[in-house]
Amino acid sequence: MTNLRDLPSVEQLLQTQTSAELIARFGRPLALTAIRSILDEARARFKLNPVPALPSIDLILAQTDSLLSAWTKPTLIPVINATGVILHTNLGRAPLSAATIHAMDMVARGYSNLEYDLEKGTRGSRLIHAESILQKLTGAESALVVNNNAAAVLLVLSALANRKRVIISRSQLVEIGGGFRVPDVMKQSGAKLVEVGTTNRVHLRDYENALQEPTALVMSVHPSNFKIIGFTEEPDLKDIVEVSHHAAAFVVDDLGSGALLDTAKYGLAHEPTVQESLAAGSDVVCFSGDKLLGGPQAGIIVGRKVLIDKIKKHPLARAVRADKVCLAGISATLLHYLKNDAEREIPIWKMMSLTLKQVRGRAEAWKKEVGQGNVVEGESTVGGGSLPGESFKTYLLSLEVKSPDKFLKKLRDQDPPIIARTENDKILLDPRTILPEQDGALLAGLKNAL
Ligand SMILES: *Cc1c(COP(=O)(O)O)cnc(C)c1O
Repeated sequence: MTNLRDLPSVEQLLQTQTSAELIARFGRPLALTAIRSILDEARARFKLNPVPALPSIDLILAQTDSLLSAWTKPTLIPVINATGVILHTNLGRAPLSAATIHAMDMVARGYSNLEYDLEKGTRGSRLIHAESILQKLTGAESALVVNNNAAAVLLVLSALANRKRVIISRSQLVEIGGGFRVPDVMKQSGAKLVEVGTTNRVHLRDYENALQEPTALVMSVHPSNFKIIGFTEEPDLKDIVEVSHHAAAFVVDDLGSGALLDTAKYGLAHEPTVQESLAAGSDVVCFSGDKLLGGPQAGIIVGRKVLIDKIKKHPLARAVRADKVCLAGISATLLHYLKNDAEREIPIWKMMSLTLKQVRGRAEAWKKEVGQGNVVEGESTVGGGSLPGESFKTYLLSLEVKSPDKFLKKLRDQDPPIIARTENDKILLDPRTILPEQDGALLAGLKNAL
């Protein structure tokens, strides 16, 4: 008659070579927790169903090994983006340039002069690191880098418009995604929201009328992820600035993506640039670090010194400040623009500037390597809340498989996972968003899944 007492004890298990190895790999406390958890499970199973055979020492240790591997497997891992969406928010937005990764790595490894003035040997400020590059690049008087652009908007409004009127067009009361709604953020900052115009049409006189009462700010929010078409009207930023300044109100422009280069060069619509917004007279401009800038997650605020100084001093500035690794990365990414090598060095601009011939060549090479599929014309998009509805021509490897959804799952099960899309029951893989060094891993994964 089998008895639960015949189950190996923790002590017995610990005397084995295998458990010594598990302890070496995973540490004693975690290994012990796992062993106990497997033993508890075996006991519970036995009580439900008292079969004659209890698990052996080897089986228990093998199960412990699996459990420990599952517990310690990282959940955040690299994937291959075969979707053709360059700034895929779910896939971590912008891949970084080699110089950016190097700068972040250097600062992460050891100590740095984050808040230390090397000249004087005294306490310094973390705010200076990206500021001078941003001044040179945009011509802005002052700049500040924070955790992300949502934080930038919240901070700017809290510092400049708490309990004061902020005018915004109804066409711009948008939801950016992930629950970030412009009106909610504005309320959170304590600003008094004054909506003007209608969803599709806003006139300059709507702003002028609202500006008759004392107003702190006029806010402009770039419609990053949608387009209003048809019977529409929106005054030029330059004119909004003029009537706002006339009424002693400042203008804050949330550009969202904040391109520093002209996207029209790649056959896409023109995304307003930071330089243009400042030239139109915006007093404060904010934008993301990891959208069309192509850097790490950050929110960048540039503009007039008096206002940026006030923003820097607000208590929230500390709560949303950028860390040293981000500051090193943003500075390195910005340097590419300053040195005019952004298109050569920043992955997202490299992807946009790939010629059709290059994209086609890679798709053809994959086809040859996997021995099936067709190379077809298709479209890549920028994504990430930039240039809605805009796409550019690409070539795709199109694969015919029995069950497309099952095959997509199979691709996701590869190491690294491959994220692809389907259209008309075909699996589509876009070379544009696959980094050149990932070609080998992609082909290995594809062959495995096929
Ligand atoms: C994307 C976006 C934001 C939010 O930026 P994050 O960097 O993602 O926090 C805010 N405003 C606009 C207009 C955007 O497009």
